Amino acid sequence: MDITQAMEILEDTEVMILKGDKIKVKVALYELFNAAKKQIPWKPVKRMYVDNNELKCPMCGETVGFKEYGVFYEYCIQCGQKMFWGG
Ligand SMILES: [Zn+2]
Repeated sequence: MDITQAMEILEDTEVMILKGDKIKVKVALYELFNAAKKQIPWKPVKRMYVDNNELKCPMCGETVGFKEYGVFYEYCIQCGQKMFWGG
């Protein structure tokens, strides 16, 4: 289910519940919750390596920056989590 489908279902929540389709409503809420969660900036976890100083996404562990090169991704390329690089 994508976000557009989730929103369409939630627009009709009462109809879906009356039809007994509570699971679809729950899945739609879950999808939107996950999408909203990714808009919240997270402080990346610092993980030191022998040759490298990679910064990892706190949600999925994907590399989201290279400190030594001054490269900091705005979003995780793997899961879409928004990053927080401020103090
Ligand atoms: Zn991620």
